[in-house]
Amino acid sequence: MVCVYDVCVVGAGPAGLGAGMYAGRLNLRTLIVGEDAGGLIATTTLVENYPGFVSISGTELAGRLLEHARHYGVELVEERVEEIRKVCNGFEVATGSGRYQAKSVILATGTAHRKLPAKNADRFEGRGVYYCALCDAPLLRDRRAAVVGGGDGAAKEALLVAEYAQKVYILCRDEGLHAEPPNLRKVEENPRIEIINHTNVVEIAGDDVVREVVMERHGRTERLEVDGVFVAIGGVPRSELAVKLGVEVNEKGEVVTDKKGRTSMPGVFAAGDVTSGGFRQAIISVAEGVSAAYSAYRYLTSEYVETRRCEP
Ligand SMILES: Cc1cc2nc3c(=O)[nH]c(=O)nc-3n(C[C@H](O)[C@H](O)[C@H](O)COP(=O)(O)OP(=O)(O)OC[C@H]3O[C@@H](n4cnc5c(N)ncnc54)[C@H](O)[C@@H]3O)c2cc1C
Repeated sequence: MVCVYDVCVVGAGPAGLGAGMYAGRLNLRTLIVGEDAGGLIATTTLVENYPGFVSISGTELAGRLLEHARHYGVELVEERVEEIRKVCNGFEVATGSGRYQAKSVILATGTAHRKLPAKNADRFEGRGVYYCALCDAPLLRDRRAAVVGGGDGAAKEALLVAEYAQKVYILCRDEGLHAEPPNLRKVEENPRIEIINHTNVVEIAGDDVVREVVMERHGRTERLEVDGVFVAIGGVPRSELAVKLGVEVNEKGEVVTDKKGRTSMPGVFAAGDVTSGGFRQAIISVAEGVSAAYSAYRYLTSEYVETRRCEP
């Protein structure tokens, strides 16, 4: 007999794990299908703004979220979901190796790193152009690095890169770095970090490896010698599954939800960075995940009606 889950959560980052934990606690038969368990927060060294922890590593926080979900008997399949389709009485979630049936779905697929729109950035990806300081900063030990970006993520990435590199330039498009005050202060006090404002990176230059960043500043072309470039210019919502399923997304590709995590499609809920919520932080994702799980519970206990038996 096919096992039908009450809820299938797609994505195992803070939103998916928060949703899974709460759904499990509500006694819903819950499956989380997600690649890269822990999500984006597991790729940052230090989290200092998650209530309850003055300071915790991203990896440990992700581990605790996972452990909490598992505590309530939630199942986890660490795979990429290829498709979600509507079937009678619910949804079918397909991975490369399995198909899962669920009465409701919570989309928690987060974002993908926004690629640097500069000449040769793709050519040097993984060979001097990087998207994760935690993963790749040690490669820049005693060398010169640039971090492209102007937000809190860029500040945190620069601080991490500066633990290895002898010099780190933060290349901001606007005037100043828009980071959380404690992170901004750490950046400003770090003698290895220099912020260069009004910079538009147009090209990555090199031979086998990265040698220079070519940038436009005040109408002039300038070149900066570096050995590596970290890109921290935000994320693009991973909403392809939602689009294919027929769930409404906005002009930025974010899944449109109401405050309770309900999408345009009955039985489909969404949470975290993939949604139109705006403020992309782990605590917001967890909270939205909880809200979406509660909405799924309400849906299953008051709206959901099994209409007919499905053929195997
Ligand atoms: C450098 C950096 C530092 C940060 N620092 C902080 C911080 O200090 N404090 C803070 O609160 N926030 C921080 N953030 C933001 C925080 O990481 C995100 O807001 C949070 O991780 C979003 O959670 P999410 O679950 O919505 O999405 P994600 O964390 O992106 O998780 C989504 C998950 O879904 C998976 N997925 C996507 N598509 C599929 C699919 N088709 N099949 C299966 N799985 C899929 C992904 O692989 C991923 O594991 C930081 C972000 C960055 C980049």
